[in-house]
Amino acid sequence: MKMRFVDEFRNPELIRKTLDEIERIIEPDDHFRIMEACGGHTYSIFHFGLQELLPKNIEFIHGPGCPVCVLPPGRVDEGLEIASKNSDVIFTAFGDVMRVPGKKGSPLNYKAMGTDVRMIYSPLDALNIAIKNPDKKIILFAIGFETTAPSTAITVLKAKELDIDNFFVYSNHVKIVPVLKSILDQPNMRIDGFIGPGHASVVIGAHPYEIIAKEYKKPVVISGFEPLDLLQSILMLIKQLKNGESKVEIQYKRVVMEGGNVSALEIIDQVFEDRPAFEWRGLGAIQNSALKLKPEFAKWDAEVQFNVEKITIEENKDAQCGEVLKGMLKPNQCKLFGKVCTPDNPVGALMVSSEGACATYYNHLYSTMSL
Ligand code: SF4
Repeated sequence: MKMRFVDEFRNPELIRKTLDEIERIIEPDDHFRIMEACGGHTYSIFHFGLQELLPKNIEFIHGPGCPVCVLPPGRVDEGLEIASKNSDVIFTAFGDVMRVPGKKGSPLNYKAMGTDVRMIYSPLDALNIAIKNPDKKIILFAIGFETTAPSTAITVLKAKELDIDNFFVYSNHVKIVPVLKSILDQPNMRIDGFIGPGHASVVIGAHPYEIIAKEYKKPVVISGFEPLDLLQSILMLIKQLKNGESKVEIQYKRVVMEGGNVSALEIIDQVFEDRPAFEWRGLGAIQNSALKLKPEFAKWDAEVQFNVEKITIEENKDAQCGEVLKGMLKPNQCKLFGKVCTPDNPVGALMVSSEGACATYYNHLYSTMSL
């Protein structure tokens, strides 16, 4: 059967069949630690209760795939400081960024204190605000993995085409493969395989993960987001692990091509270049892990056009976001989880976005878990 639609990937019979096959090949002494490197996968695993259905010797490690979670504390403040110090600046960002706690509060707190902060649904919204407000300077707080970088790049090209000179990008776009490598390089890290991110892989394809499979000898299966997608991906990973293989495979073939989206990759390449290093929450600086505008687009680069003061924030010493992001602690093992840190009062970014590991744990498991 050729499966294309959502219902087929929630078919109970196929789900049961796949679970049976997983149970059949798993042996009592097996213990597989599988990292899902995408917040959307973390959400789906909990939303569909997959961890309850699967054998207990499959352990999920929640990776750094939620873009707001991996931003170093201070980065949002840096963008907000520009807006709060200049009355002619409008700060624009996606909804997920709005509640990220910073030094003096989240973007929503700044808005309440009088800073012009606006939520957008796409980078083009920010450009339209610039067009409608020629006497203002609009900062787009751009965020996301390779998934969202093409839409930021297209917006920069549009700003160039229309010669808009009051639109500026504060780029926080990050790359998935360098962070996976950095996690594998951490001392005492044990990950047996990766559920590869579905969205970023639509853009980058399967080839960039070859280094994970070949040099680190860890299998990667790029997965969709429905329960059957994830179970099929886990089965594919376990088959590789049982056979001693480490290959990159695509389960999400209805969307992801081996070579990715060539047009999107060309647009990213046209507008962005690698930063020599970028700071990640809990992981420190990782080389060539983020994107900044190329010099020919300096006119639209907020970091070039504004005096951005580097802000470093002393985090709550009990907040263990870094350990959770590295997969060394489960969210409910953080000292603040569910007591001081909740989705209504997030101390760390992992509690903000619905795709953050801590928010996912809290929203799906809080009533049943021991703290
Ligand atoms: S519970 Fe809060 S402070 Fe602890 S790791 Fe999660 S987001 Fe960070």
